[in-house]
Amino acid sequence: MRGMVHQAGPESNFCDAGPPRVHSPPMKRVIAVANQKGGVGKTTTAVNLAASLAATKRRVMLLDLDPQGNATMGSGVDKSQLQSSSVDVLLGEVEINAALVRVDPGGFDLLPANQDLTAAEVRLLTMMAGRETKLRNAVAPLRESYDVILIDCPPALNMLTVNSLVAADSVLIPMQCEYYALEGLSALVGTIEQIRSAANESLEIEGILRTMFDPRNNLANEVSAQLIMHFGDKVFRTIIPRNIRLAEAPSFGKPVLFHDRESRGALAYLALAGEMIRREEEEQQTATQAAAPGEEGAEAADESGNAEVVPNSL
Ligand code: ADP
Ligand code: MG
Repeated sequence: MRGMVHQAGPESNFCDAGPPRVHSPPMKRVIAVANQKGGVGKTTTAVNLAASLAATKRRVMLLDLDPQGNATMGSGVDKSQLQSSSVDVLLGEVEINAALVRVDPGGFDLLPANQDLTAAEVRLLTMMAGRETKLRNAVAPLRESYDVILIDCPPALNMLTVNSLVAADSVLIPMQCEYYALEGLSALVGTIEQIRSAANESLEIEGILRTMFDPRNNLANEVSAQLIMHFGDKVFRTIIPRNIRLAEAPSFGKPVLFHDRESRGALAYLALAGEMIRREEEEQQTATQAAAPGEEGAEAADESGNAEVVPNSL
C-alpha cells in the first residue's frame, strides 16, 4: 500500500507535522476507525485524530456511528439533546449537512449519534436492497467539502460497521497489544476482504495503530513485534501510550489537545496526524517520480524501517 519506508525516528515527533506546508496536498479520504472489539481506543482515536488533523488546517468531519454516542459526548455535544443525528441521515430522512454540529474547541464538524441509532441498525437489516450503501450515499454530497472524514464505528461487525466500510476509502484499526489481539485482527481483515470483493474494491487498510501501549509490558512488546512481522509498514510508527489525560478528556467534553496540549496523549495524536500527512506527501512524491522517470531513487528508503515515532518520554 505504502510505497516508501519513513525515516522518522523518536526525535522526529509531532513537530514535523508543524503547520501545513503550502504545497501539502489535501488528504481527501474517508477513513473508518474500526475494530469489532470494544475498549481498544476507537473513539479516543477518532475524536483526537479529528482535532489533530483540524489543527493542521485540514477540513475534518467526524461521523459518530456508534449508538453509545461516545464520540458525540467526547466532542462536548449532549447526545440527549440532538435535533437530528446519524440515524436520520442514515435512513435518508435528513440531509447530512443539516445534521452537522460544529465542535468548538475542536475545529471539526460532527455528525452526532445516540441510542436511536440502534433502531437504524434494525431497519437496515430488514431492508431488501441498498442497505449497505446508505452511508456512502448520504456522505456523497459532502465528500469534496472535507479533506478527511473519520467514522467512529461501533464495537461489532454489524450493519453500521458494514455501512462504514462501504463508505470508506480506508480503515484505521486501533488495537491494544494483548494476547488475543491478533486473532481479532484476522477476523476484521477477513471482513475487509469480503467488503472489498462485494461492494468496495478500493478499500485499503489505512494503518494499524497501537493504543494504550505500555512499553514495560513484555507481552505488549512481543505482540507489537508480531504485528510488524505480519503487517509491515501498515503498522503506524506512532504509538499511543496509556495516558490519563486521554482518559479524562471526554469527561470535560474536549479533545485532549484542548484539555492538556502538552500531555503525552495529545502529542501522540499530533504525531499520528503528522505521520499520516507525511505518508500522503511521500505517496504524492512517488507518484510524481513515477510520472517523470530518470529522477527516481534519489533517496533510497530506509529498509530497516523500525524507527517509531513516540512522544518524548515514553
Ligand atoms: P472504543 O471506542 O474502542 O470502545 P475507547 O476509545 O472508548 O474505546 O477507549 C476505551 C476506554 O479507554 C475509555 O475509557 C478511554 O478513555 C480509555 N482510553 C482510550 N485510549 C486510552 C489511552 N491511550 N490511555 C488511557 N486511556 C485510554
Ligand atoms: Mg467507541
